[in-house]
Amino acid sequence: MGAQILRTTIAGSLPKPSWLAEPAKLWAPWRLSGDALAEAKRDATVLAIKEQEDAGIDIVGDGEQARQHFVHGFVERIGGVDFEKRVTMGIRNNRYDAQVPTVTGPLHRLGPVHRFEAEIARAHTRRPLKFTLPGPMTIIDTIADGYYGDRVRMAMAFADLLNEEARELEAIGVDVIQFDEPAFNVYMDQVRDWGIEALHRAAAGLRCRTAVHICYGYGIKANLDWKETLGSEWRQYEETFPHLARSRIDQISLECANSRVPINLIGLLEGKDVLVGAIDVASNVVETPEDVAATIRRALDFVAPEKLFPCTNCGMAPMPRDVARGKLRALAAGAALVRAELGASELGASALGGAKLGGRA
Ligand code: ZN
Repeated sequence: MGAQILRTTIAGSLPKPSWLAEPAKLWAPWRLSGDALAEAKRDATVLAIKEQEDAGIDIVGDGEQARQHFVHGFVERIGGVDFEKRVTMGIRNNRYDAQVPTVTGPLHRLGPVHRFEAEIARAHTRRPLKFTLPGPMTIIDTIADGYYGDRVRMAMAFADLLNEEARELEAIGVDVIQFDEPAFNVYMDQVRDWGIEALHRAAAGLRCRTAVHICYGYGIKANLDWKETLGSEWRQYEETFPHLARSRIDQISLECANSRVPINLIGLLEGKDVLVGAIDVASNVVETPEDVAATIRRALDFVAPEKLFPCTNCGMAPMPRDVARGKLRALAAGAALVRAELGASELGASALGGAKLGGRA
């Protein structure tokens, strides 16, 4: 059996059905409560898995159907955080204001955070399963500190809790654990000074694949306005990729489609798996397979096909569902085009459903 190439995956979130949460919104309120909400989250998770499989995605996820927001979905089950004590805080270096909870005591997990949906997802697919968690730097950029008095110390405390959670997810049978760190594109000096160390702490002892997702954010107005200020070339990755290349994290997920990131920066990630964003999440225009193939071909100049994973730029949570489905199909079809060009179409990972990801034995 030859090496698998151009295995497709998604950054994380998918839009939720309208019977679960209000559509087309970040932080969308739930439509249900209590047992009915739990059942609806379960059903939506099964559906998210099925729709990825139908579209031809090779490494699937839970679509983040059971959490309201990618950071607070984790934080809301952490003791020491007071959700009643909400303050308005400028986040991502004051790019936008958010109502955030406050840390008021020593942080500890109240119990498993994501076991429910991870077990459901694992039970309903034989494909490799990826699970996303917020990264320590992004968490502390989305929460107020009324206890630690030192943001790095608070980040390390969250990293330890993420590690407890990640080990449990691995035991459930998750194949890839990804930490989402959009803050890595904002505080590049801190990535060097402590951000990688915090990631290592969160990933300590894991034997499954580990990933970090670094993007320019969802396609919301504050992010689009911010992107306008970044100039003709976005070079944030240039500062952080050399540190990531030396890190113990296996995979780096980055934004590429329709972005002003110079493609050659991928070359700084030598030795790593690269999850190349070939789907724009800031536009409802569905890419053609040829659009996706063009992005993949550009990336292939800098990363080998067995280390290149066509992916979405970011999560698709705020998008219409039919658009998201179309984009998933385009992603898989675009990857298939390039696989065929490389004369290896028969080696596509879809044909090998259930195969473990390569790497560590
Ligand atoms: Zn993202």
